[in-house]
Amino acid sequence: MSAPDTGEPSELVVGRYGELWLKGKNRRDFERALLKNTKRALAPVAPMKLVREGAQILAIPEPGSESRVGDLARRMAEVFGFSSISRARTAPADPQAIAETARTVLAEALDALPRGRAIPFRVETKRGDKSFPMISTELDRFVADRVIADHAERLTVDLSHPELTLGIHVRPERTFVFAERVPGAGGLPVGTLGRAVALLSGGIDSPVASWMAMKRGCEVVFCAFHSFPYIGESYLAKVRRLVARLARFQVNSVLHEVPFTAIQEAIRDGAPPSYRTVLYRRQMARVACRIAAREKASALITGESLGQVASQTLENLTCIGAASSLPVLRPLVAFDKFETIELARKIGTFDLSIEPEPDCCTVFQPKKPILRGRIEVCEDAEGSLDLDALIDAALEASERRVIAAS
Ligand code: ATP
Ligand code: MG
Repeated sequence: MSAPDTGEPSELVVGRYGELWLKGKNRRDFERALLKNTKRALAPVAPMKLVREGAQILAIPEPGSESRVGDLARRMAEVFGFSSISRARTAPADPQAIAETARTVLAEALDALPRGRAIPFRVETKRGDKSFPMISTELDRFVADRVIADHAERLTVDLSHPELTLGIHVRPERTFVFAERVPGAGGLPVGTLGRAVALLSGGIDSPVASWMAMKRGCEVVFCAFHSFPYIGESYLAKVRRLVARLARFQVNSVLHEVPFTAIQEAIRDGAPPSYRTVLYRRQMARVACRIAAREKASALITGESLGQVASQTLENLTCIGAASSLPVLRPLVAFDKFETIELARKIGTFDLSIEPEPDCCTVFQPKKPILRGRIEVCEDAEGSLDLDALIDAALEASERRVIAAS
C-alpha cells in the first residue's frame, strides 16, 4: 500500500466529537480540554502525536509504534467527549491511491466478518476538501467499482442498510479510509464543567456516581471516611484501588482520607441511636464541603439513590442535603440497583467494589434506623455535641494523596 509522503505511519486513530452545539468560547474550552485529556490518556500507551482537524482529534503513532494503533484506539474510546472512534489508514489525495488503500482496509475488515453469506456494503465519502477533483458520490462509485470485484462473492451493495461501511474522509490536510467505527465514551471532556468532591465509600454505587459526574465534565476529587480501629487498613487499600481504576477516566485523581471514628463516637454517645446514620452522613457532607473549599470544587457527589436503603428516603436525603453548603449531586437518584451494577461492570469497578470490606457506616449501626428523619431533630442532637472541633480535628488528621490510573 502506498503511504502518504509525510513520512508518518499510514495507520492512525480518529476520534470524532459532535460539534453542532459547540460555539465560541465553549468550543475552544471543549477542544483544549479534550486534547489535554486525550494526551494524558494516550501518552503512556505508545509514542504518538495528536492533531486536531475539523471536529476530530487524530492520534498518529510515531514511526516504530504502528503496531500499537489498536491499543491507542481502545484507550481513546474511554476518554469522555468523543462520539465515535475509528482506526484508519491514510492515503494520498488521489482517487486511484484512495482505492488502493480502500482495498487494504476492506480486506482487513472482511477478515473479521463471517464467511458464507453476502455482507451488505457501501462506500461513504465525506469531502471536506472542496478542491478534490471528484464529488463524494463520484468517489463512492469509483472506489466501490475497484474494491468490490476482489470480493464479489462476499459483498452486496446496499446503500440504505449496510453492515459494512467503508468510510473515506477527504480533508485538505490528509485523506483517510476506515471500516470500523466504535462508539466513543460520549459526555464532555473532564474538567470543562469544573470540579466536584465525590464521597467515595468502598461500595458499588459511589464509584459509578463519580464516573457519571466525570462523564458530564466534572473533574472529581475523592473523599473517603475511615474508622480506625474498627475498620482496618484493608478498607483504605480497597478505596485506593477504586480511585486508581476511576483515574483512568480523568488520569490523576486526588483522594482525601479522613478519620471519622471520633465523630462517630460522639454521635453514638450523644444522639438518638436511630439517627446515627443520617447524622454520620450530615457530618460527612460538612467535611466534604470543607475539602471542596480547599480544592476549589463547587459541588458534592454521592452514590445515593432514592429509596434504595433506609437512609435514602426523601426525608433522610433532605436532612443530609441540608447539612451541605454546596449542591449535592446524586447521579444515581433514579437508578435501580441492577442498572448501577451493569454500569459498574462496564467501567471496571464492580469486581473491586464487591471485595468484602465493611465501611465505616456499619460501625455502631442502630437496630432501627430512622426512616423519615427530621431536620429539627438532627440539629437538636448536633447542638449538644462539639462537632465543629471534631470536624476540624478530622480535617487536620486527614491525608491527601494523588493516585495514578491503574
Ligand atoms: P455505596 O455503594 O456507594 O456504598 P450505598 O448504596 O451502599 O452506596 P450507603 O453505604 O448508605 O449507600 O452510602 C450512601 C453514600 O454515602 C455513598 O454512595 C457515598 O457517597 C457516601 N458514603 C458512605 N460511606 C462513606 C464513606 N465511608 N466514605 C465516603 N463516603 C461515604
Ligand atoms: Mg455502601
